[in-house]
Amino acid sequence: METTSLQAQLDAARNDRLRVLVIGAGIAGLTLAQLLRGRGLHPVLVERAGPDAPSGYMLALVPLVDPVLAELALTKTYRDRSVPMRRYRLRSRHGALVREYEMGKLLDAYGDYRGISRGDLMDVLAQPGGTVSHGVTVTALDQRPDGVTAAFAGADVAEAEFDAVIAADGLHSATRGLLLEPEQVTGHETDWGGWVVWMDADEDQDLGEELWGTGWFVGTYPVKERIGAILCAPRASKHEGLGALVARIRSEVSGAGDRLDRVLAQADDGRESYYWALNDCRSAAWTSGRIALVGDAAAGFLPTAGIGAGMAIESAWVLAHHLTANEYGDVAAALRAYEQAQRPRVEAAQKNSRQLAPMMFNSSPTAAAVRDAAARFVPLGVALRPIQKLLDTRPTPPA
Ligand SMILES: Cc1cc2nc3c(=O)[nH]c(=O)nc-3n(C[C@H](O)[C@H](O)[C@H](O)COP(=O)(O)OP(=O)(O)OC[C@H]3O[C@@H](n4cnc5c(N)ncnc54)[C@H](O)[C@@H]3O)c2cc1C
Repeated sequence: METTSLQAQLDAARNDRLRVLVIGAGIAGLTLAQLLRGRGLHPVLVERAGPDAPSGYMLALVPLVDPVLAELALTKTYRDRSVPMRRYRLRSRHGALVREYEMGKLLDAYGDYRGISRGDLMDVLAQPGGTVSHGVTVTALDQRPDGVTAAFAGADVAEAEFDAVIAADGLHSATRGLLLEPEQVTGHETDWGGWVVWMDADEDQDLGEELWGTGWFVGTYPVKERIGAILCAPRASKHEGLGALVARIRSEVSGAGDRLDRVLAQADDGRESYYWALNDCRSAAWTSGRIALVGDAAAGFLPTAGIGAGMAIESAWVLAHHLTANEYGDVAAALRAYEQAQRPRVEAAQKNSRQLAPMMFNSSPTAAAVRDAAARFVPLGVALRPIQKLLDTRPTPPA
């Protein structure tokens, strides 16, 4: 992506049949911008962070993303930069193997479940090129029947006119506050948080592994040439630091294998870890006239089911198709159709992520013992049913 001035982007968009402002060049915003570019538009893309912002954590992507990447002609690039995650291993609070699932077999009919770092995914999505203005935020949106005036901070232009404005500025979206009342945004708070650490690949690069502890959780997920790990615990213990969490896990777990040993050694070092609060958000409305929310700004995800980014990409795709379809008389009708199509799906997926949270982030020894015993008997088909349902009912947006 070429970093450019806002004025240069506005000049490029001047003669577009639809002038679209996309706020946030994250997963949803970048996907949407690229899809709109593919449809002959010059979306104006603004991003609060600088061009060298740290690009984060590891992602497992469900095959919901496949048609979107195919439309962007990015299938090969995506596959080259990611790894198939075909197996999932669950360990108990003491490190014993509870169960190993062959996820690949169950999902083969739909495509791959793949591991990719967020940075690599952003690189993949940037491949078709395009422009973005960094260090820019939107401070006000003034909507009239014939357009929206956006006011900017950090840009070379104070305000500009658009036909549609899309907020893709993530879980803590500031733009959302410009169109919704505070009580329209609710959230699920786990009171837990997690440190992300990275380590070198091992010989099991098709394996995701989780240890569900008592008062802690460790997940490890392969990406290209690396493994990303997240070590979670109640936020109340954050001040004790990652070293204290590592010591605690070491004292409670034995025989969990080389991968956990390596994660704990890496985490003990602590230098390259990054902390995430584990909560989500849900917006009571996704659209207001010519303005819409997409991705985490509309419905933010806990990472428990590994599906937030997949849903963000899918929603951006559905939005791009509705926005550019000829069948709507006006922009507001197109945005309403997008919300109608995606909100129920996304909220169902979000509900599933919420339901998993108390099992994964659990501090009661009794509940953990019951959970570990019960988990042995849960067939893979049952565990993956919510994801399979989403895949069985993939959207078919207008051409
Ligand atoms: C630790 C962790 C692990 C996860 N694991 C998975 C997983 O395995 N699989 C999965 O599918 N999902 C996973 N998720 C969820 C997934 O990352 C999110 O659902 C996804 O990133 C949402 O994309 P988005 O574009 O809406 O938001 P983001 O990717 O967060 O992008 C938002 C963008 O907006 C920018 N921005 C913020 N505020 C402003 C502003 N005011 N103005 C302009 N720009 C702004 C930000 O800098 C950012 O670039 C995980 C999340 C976390 C935290």
